Amino acid sequence: MGKQYEKETICIQSGWKPKNGEPRVLPIYQSTTFKYDSSEQMGKLFDLEESGFFYTRLQNPTNEYVAAKICELEGGVAAMLTSSGQAATYYAVFNICEAGDHVVMSSTVYGGTFNLLTCTMKKMGIECTVVDPDANIDELNKAFKENTKCVFAETIANPALVVLDIEKFAKLAHSHQVPLIVDNTFATPINCNPFEWGVDIVTHSTTKYMDGHAMSVGGCIVDSGNFDWTKYPEKFPGLCTPDESYHGITYTEKFGKAAYITKATSQLMRDLGSIQSPQNAFLLNVGLETLPLRVERHCYNAQKVAEYLESHEKVAWVNYPGLKSNKYYELAQKYMPKGTCGVISFGLKGGRKAASDMMDKLKLAAIVTHVADARTCVLHPASHTHRQMNDEQLKEAGVAPDLIRLSVGIENVKDIIEDLEQALNQI
Ligand SMILES: *Cc1c(COP(=O)(O)O)cnc(C)c1O
Repeated sequence: MGKQYEKETICIQSGWKPKNGEPRVLPIYQSTTFKYDSSEQMGKLFDLEESGFFYTRLQNPTNEYVAAKICELEGGVAAMLTSSGQAATYYAVFNICEAGDHVVMSSTVYGGTFNLLTCTMKKMGIECTVVDPDANIDELNKAFKENTKCVFAETIANPALVVLDIEKFAKLAHSHQVPLIVDNTFATPINCNPFEWGVDIVTHSTTKYMDGHAMSVGGCIVDSGNFDWTKYPEKFPGLCTPDESYHGITYTEKFGKAAYITKATSQLMRDLGSIQSPQNAFLLNVGLETLPLRVERHCYNAQKVAEYLESHEKVAWVNYPGLKSNKYYELAQKYMPKGTCGVISFGLKGGRKAASDMMDKLKLAAIVTHVADARTCVLHPASHTHRQMNDEQLKEAGVAPDLIRLSVGIENVKDIIEDLEQALNQI
């Protein structure tokens, strides 16, 4: 193995490494198929006897290089891109759960994840118990059952901004002999490396900071390679017993630490097909090159904006883990000392009505269903992303009805604050 570079260097130099005379920049392999000289060679690829490309639904070089870069950033052993963050969450769980199984999930996860696990996957026969991430171990232990197969949470919850006590959750999951899967979208591997704290599998919506420019929807799954499936073969038969749909291959035997991602690729991607387009992977790679610079600026700006809002008389409350007054300040310092993310939530003394009035007055910050890109934007989760939830579910998800989610961009922070100021002055 070569020298282990710092993250800033990995973002620029890893993944595609051109050989003599090859393009300097990662090419877009805009091809569905790949040509072979002999039929036998192609057969070996189908048998997973040799690694190589044959059809883009399974693997594409552009995607592979980008996945390799994210894998290195997270410090994992294998990774795959998916068409969206939702697909990444779905595959990450479905790869080890089937009808009759059970998942334990933090209540504060992203709305889409909440729906996926509690509604859609329920229809597939997979049950989910929702837990308060701040509950103590005794409480959390009660959520587990015989058929529990994994725990799912977010390093920083979108939009509740709850910072996960990662070590607590890793210990919890492992004491029940199941892996901890964590969505690291908001913190990004620049601010937090969940594997260092015992997380087994990381997912991302690359749509957010990684792409960073609101250009392409995408997702990624990274495996740490640390969870030993073979210790619990009866719990994870899909990984530890022969796969009839793949000529009786046993993933853990044949692929060792890459078993989980290989199974997700050769089984789930083959059959369900949520591949990221190479074009989007190319854009994602461009975004990744500047990720450390942007994340640093997002965090700097968000800190300033949070401090400004906290001191404003019309603001009822501000939630940002970088504020000393924040409930999660200590956890944030422990797990993400360089910063958390660029997203802030706050409420106004005028409540729900004042929130929508103020949002309408903003000139620079746009109302969009997005977070975590270069441009400052706002959203009212109760009437937008979390619209399907009732008040009780909103409360559990840590989303107050008056909550404004402000995604602080990388513009000059003076302009962002002036925009907020003029809008606040008008309500
Ligand atoms: C946006 C988001 C998702 C879903 O990702 P898509 O790319 O929109 O499918 C999942 N988790 C978190 C934390 C998100 O912010």
